[in-house]
Amino acid sequence: MYSLLEERLKVLGWQQTAHQLDSLVESASANNVSYFDFLDTLVKQEWEQREAQALTKRIQKARFPYSKTIHDFDFSFQPSISEQRVKETLTCRFIANGENRLILGPPGVGKTHLAIGFGLEALAKGYHVLFMTADDLGEQCQKAAKKGTMNYLINRLCKPDLIILDEVGYFSFDTLTANLFFQVVSKRYEKGAMIITSNKSYVEWGKTFGDDVLATAILDRLLHHSVTFNIKGDSYRMEEKKKAGIFPTPPAIESEK
Ligand code: ADP
Ligand code: MG
Repeated sequence: MYSLLEERLKVLGWQQTAHQLDSLVESASANNVSYFDFLDTLVKQEWEQREAQALTKRIQKARFPYSKTIHDFDFSFQPSISEQRVKETLTCRFIANGENRLILGPPGVGKTHLAIGFGLEALAKGYHVLFMTADDLGEQCQKAAKKGTMNYLINRLCKPDLIILDEVGYFSFDTLTANLFFQVVSKRYEKGAMIITSNKSYVEWGKTFGDDVLATAILDRLLHHSVTFNIKGDSYRMEEKKKAGIFPTPPAIESEK
């Protein structure tokens, strides 16, 4: 009887309950638990297990390059970042409203870390997220053009609740990718949230997109409902290396007379 119940629970997909059947029944009878509380415990455990599995799947699908949360971020090292705006972003209201977050700054100041931290929070709240670098976008665009699957790619980029596009500006976009990006931004405008990180200020985006008019049209849509985090601090990577003694402070050079 017992193993039949376990078997049927598994067939029904109640894996967690099937695995814990023994201990659940024992603890319920030992503690004289009511029928309602017993059922409630079973359902709660099964529910939480499924939520955790779904979250793990969404995290894998998001394709983050590394996993670091906002709690791992040392805000005292980057005082130029408004903690208030970070907190507001973590509520994920911007995703519900189809708004954007732009994170600008030189290399190593924590742009990718912040973007991933926001992404993880969105995933925990049940949203679907996709992370990609501008370089990935260019590669996927070229592949799609060759295969004739451009519409499929555009749909794939419009589907997630939040798209994180990292490292805009390190390389210039080719014309095809710049146009694809414009289409994605236009389609997502006021509907799908985006986080974009860049080492370039907005005035330099014309060069990145190879076209000032196109860059202006993209920025116009991106910035309409958005918050920009302009990080002005030092590179955290360099600071860690300095602390480890990899870059000893150079001896003072005597100025030429
Ligand atoms: P970039 O601005 O170039 O995208 P990253 O976000 O990749 O920089 O940060 C580089 C490394 O330094 C990562 O390992 C990141 O976790 C770490 N880092 C950057 N800023 C901070 C910070 N303020 N607190 C903790 N770790 C940080
Ligand atoms: Mg980065």
